[in-house]
Amino acid sequence: MESMGVFSGGDFRAWTTLLVLVSLLLGVSGIAAAKDESALVEVAIQLKWRHQFQFAGYYAAIEQGYYRDAGLNVTLYERSESRSPIDQLMSGRVEFAVADTGALIYRASGVPLVALAAIFQSSPSVLVTRADGPIDSLYDLKNQPVMLSGGYMNAELLAMLANAGMAVDDVQVVPSETSLEPLISGEVAGYNGYSTNEPFEFTRRAIPYRVFRPSDYGIDFYGDILLTTETMLNTAPDVTRNFLEATRRGWDYALTHPDKVVDLILRDYNTLGKSREHLMFEAEASKSLILPNVVPVGYMNEERWRHIESVFRDQGLLTGEVDLNTFLYSAEPDSLFDELFWAHRWYWLVALVSMVGLALLLHARRLHAEVAVRTRQLSDAKQQAEQEARTDYLTNLPNRRHLLECLVRYSAQSQRHDLPLSLIMIDVDYFKRVNDEYGHAAGDEALRQVSALLAESVRTGDMAARMGGEEFAIVCLNNDAQEAVALAQRLCQDIASTPVTFGSTEFSLTVSMGIAVYEHGEAVSSLLQKADLALYQAKAGGRNRVQTWHADGDLPSGPRTASP
Ligand code: GH3
Ligand code: MG
Ligand code: MG
Repeated sequence: MESMGVFSGGDFRAWTTLLVLVSLLLGVSGIAAAKDESALVEVAIQLKWRHQFQFAGYYAAIEQGYYRDAGLNVTLYERSESRSPIDQLMSGRVEFAVADTGALIYRASGVPLVALAAIFQSSPSVLVTRADGPIDSLYDLKNQPVMLSGGYMNAELLAMLANAGMAVDDVQVVPSETSLEPLISGEVAGYNGYSTNEPFEFTRRAIPYRVFRPSDYGIDFYGDILLTTETMLNTAPDVTRNFLEATRRGWDYALTHPDKVVDLILRDYNTLGKSREHLMFEAEASKSLILPNVVPVGYMNEERWRHIESVFRDQGLLTGEVDLNTFLYSAEPDSLFDELFWAHRWYWLVALVSMVGLALLLHARRLHAEVAVRTRQLSDAKQQAEQEARTDYLTNLPNRRHLLECLVRYSAQSQRHDLPLSLIMIDVDYFKRVNDEYGHAAGDEALRQVSALLAESVRTGDMAARMGGEEFAIVCLNNDAQEAVALAQRLCQDIASTPVTFGSTEFSLTVSMGIAVYEHGEAVSSLLQKADLALYQAKAGGRNRVQTWHADGDLPSGPRTASP
């Protein structure tokens, strides 16, 4: 198992690739962020009402620089007395407008509006009554003066009355105004207000009040729809997308930092002269309708729009077909999943980069492991080749080369530790005849059987080898001359008395041996030569015998014969 703390070459390459990827991504976002101030696109938004927390997201997006990051310079317009936001938008004075769900009615009548986002997931529109008056239920409003806006403006309040069992004609509609005094004084019994606004005023003045919410009567409208036109969408899709994205960021900021945005409104936008407490109340009430913890800000669902459409239809406000596909903005993500994906794209990007990095790392580790296995295989193969190069193919004994290496090593040891070392050279007698009489295969078998006998007779640490042809040798470390001679003679007898069996054929063999004892300081070649000379003498002496080389006298006459 490789240590996790140590970086291999593969790890290093993987990390380098990951770093390059991350720097590229950072570089790209850096370039995108460095927008030229002069290249900003001018756009304007028409708000639905006077400045208050209701539009906090737009103030925040300007103040936090989100629009500038998106390449935009944004101007905000408060509600004008004379022109509705949709009029402003369709006349081309602004590129975007905040209006209400009535935009769908315009769309049904052919006005090419596009809904980009529904900021309030629940409409703040409510009917307010005095709690200390005669009105305990909606039904009590029958034949009572109620302040309501005409047309679609209060469609959801009218739908609520209808669901409570009342017709529009059942109440006396009084044109709406912004002052609460008619309700407080009892001039009207009901007042069309905002759950984000009027309750604060009643509470402040300690006047008991009651709020009737359409959602409690099965009417579930969006509030504050961000709109643009089809022309804008077709001619500047990027501007539209960037504007929407920056607006969402603005809302996210406003809802997580309401006190900061209230400060901002008080400083730059407070045309209504609201108090800090009033704005903070509005912030809190707005958050409970925008539901930022439940859906991405601005989320729209086609079913909700179908519901709104059916309410308008029931009230005769909307006739004809509405194509929601063209009304609802969907150039960008059109499902909640996509919205969530878009909202968290940086996390996804980081996750993707991490996954690519991890994959590279794992790949590098796998390569590393494969290289290790391959290296081991090569090393094994090399070892095997070396082993084969030192082994005789026929008998599996060490070969001549191996024996010579061993002899060099043993001669050094013999010298260093003053150990006796002897070399026995062995040659099969009249082997040519074996081949001639029994065939070459029988000759091979005879060589194998002689080899087996030699191999099992030597001690551990000593070596029996095939020198080539029918010649063998034994190296004995730590055997004095007498012990070597005894071993040789015993082997000579064993070979002579053990017949070779080849199939059904049996025949006998003899060998001749020459022994030389190593003298400190002499060359290995000299030891070999002496053993060869002794073997030559054994042959000359009649074969099937052991001859030891002695240094007394000339080499040819030196060896002494010992017959087994
Ligand atoms: P000597 O007693 O003088 O050693 O007689 P010899 O016949 O053994 O001597 P010589 O060197 O003339 O012949 C050796 C023979 O060994 C010749 C060769 O055919 C045979 N031989 C050498 N290697 C092999 C082998 O691997 N297999 C077989 N079957 N025969 C071999
Ligand atoms: Mg020979
Ligand atoms: Mg021979």
